[in-house]
Amino acid sequence: MYVSDRKAALKKEKDSLVVSEQTCSKCLITYVNVPEAFAKNYSSKNGYSSECRACVRNRVKTHSERQKKAKTKTFIFNKTCSECGVTYAHPYESFSPSKKTVTGLHCYCRKCQDIRAKQIKAKKPDHYASIANAAHAKRRSTKLNATPSWANSKEIKAIYRKAAQLNKTTSTKWHVDHIDPLQSKLVCGLHVTENLQILPASINCSKSNKFRPYRHCFLTNSTYYFDIEDSES
Ligand SMILES: [Zn+2]
Ligand SMILES: [Zn+2]
Repeated sequence: MYVSDRKAALKKEKDSLVVSEQTCSKCLITYVNVPEAFAKNYSSKNGYSSECRACVRNRVKTHSERQKKAKTKTFIFNKTCSECGVTYAHPYESFSPSKKTVTGLHCYCRKCQDIRAKQIKAKKPDHYASIANAAHAKRRSTKLNATPSWANSKEIKAIYRKAAQLNKTTSTKWHVDHIDPLQSKLVCGLHVTENLQILPASINCSKSNKFRPYRHCFLTNSTYYFDIEDSES
């Protein structure tokens, strides 16, 4: 028997069932005319969905409305973390961005997120260590591939040393950033001094490997940017 045959037999069997009444699991209304009030669902016991048509319609509507709202982000001036309950005056710095929420920000503050991430990592230390090692190895090999033979390794090392020194002497965290990302869909930058800059970690992380395409006109000495943003997922 083929899968399609078996499915057809199951459909037939469930279609032949006579359901006199059914209570909606959501609104708890008992309907007498089951085929009119409930949509077909062959994976259920009696062949009908557990929620009435009205409830399903409602759920779909509120879901799409929430998604629409989430797309048009509303600007906020302060935000309370739902974990620690602290209200932050600069929410866009204290919360990491999220595509799913109306505010465009995560519901936990960065501090609480860090704590949670550490707790999750502590449960499977070996697993996360191997992931980190693989990512580190990949990063090293990309850097190596992006380094041309003429790259000045002494100057590159000096830039990294300067960033390390800044990390020790100042309270902000600094990263060495590649101006043109080493790996993105639109461009592959080089691991050379001209493509390196020292940035605060917060800015560098929000930049990730986004690249804004541009053309430089040498006649007028001006740069034109295109409005396509590239990010590697
Ligand atoms: Zn209902
Ligand atoms: Zn918090």
